[in-house]
Amino acid sequence: CGIVAYIGQREAYPVVLKGLKRLEYRGYDSAGVAIINNGLQVYKKKDKVAALEEYATSFDMRSPIAIGHTRWATHGEPCDRNAHPHVSGDGKLAMVHNGIIENYVQLKQELINQGHVFQSDTDTEVLLHFIEEIKKQNQCPLEEALRIALKRVVGAYVIVLIDADNPDTLIAARKGSPLVIGVGKGEHFLASDASPIVEYTKEVVYVNDYEIAIIKADELILKNISNERQTPYIQKLDIEL
Ligand code: GLU
Repeated sequence: CGIVAYIGQREAYPVVLKGLKRLEYRGYDSAGVAIINNGLQVYKKKDKVAALEEYATSFDMRSPIAIGHTRWATHGEPCDRNAHPHVSGDGKLAMVHNGIIENYVQLKQELINQGHVFQSDTDTEVLLHFIEEIKKQNQCPLEEALRIALKRVVGAYVIVLIDADNPDTLIAARKGSPLVIGVGKGEHFLASDASPIVEYTKEVVYVNDYEIAIIKADELILKNISNERQTPYIQKLDIEL
C-alpha cells in the first residue's frame, strides 16, 4: 500500500528501503524493489520489508535508480510471485502499482491472444504487459505508450515504471491515489505520501489526476493525458520528522 522511488546521485536502494519502512504504518502483505545494475534486477518477498532487506543482502544492490513497493493484495493472494515490482515480457520494464485496474480481465484476454504469458495473478502485471504491447506496436517511447494505455484503463492507480534501456528516467502516473515528488539538488524522490521524503527535501510537487511525470535526476516534466506540458507547482513542506 505504498510506493517509493529515487533517482539521483545517491545509492538508490537504501533510500527506497528506508522509505518503504516509513510507509509500513499503512499496512501491507509483501514488499519489493527493482534496480538497474547490469540490466533490470527485481527483488520481492511476502511479509515484512525486513524480509526483503534480509534477502537483498546477498546481492549487489548498487544502482542510481530504484522503485519500491509495499503491497496490499487486491487481485491474487499475497506471495512472492504476486508481489511488486512486476516485469514486462521482454524483461526490460519494471512497474509498481497501488490501486486496482477494473477492466484487467478483458485486457488480459486480449494480451493472452497476442501471445503474452503472465507470471502473476495481479491486475498490475496486465497493465504492464498492455503498456509493453502498445510500446512495441507503436514503436514509441515508454511515456507515450503509458499515455495511450491509461486512456483505456478503468480504475484507480499510482504507478511508477523504469526501463532497463533508459536507466536515467522514472515515469509515473496517478489517478485517484496520492503521489508526491520530492525535488532535491540533482535528485528526485517519489512516494505515496511525504513521510519518506521530508528528511531529504522540503520541496514537493503533488501530482494531479491524469498527469504523467517524466523524471530524471535533474529534470522534472509533467504532462497531462493529452500530452500538454504542465508547470510543476512546487510547495514547501512544513512538517518535521
Ligand atoms: N491491485 C494490485 C495488486 O493486487 C495492487 C495492490 C496495492 O495497492 O498494493 O497487486
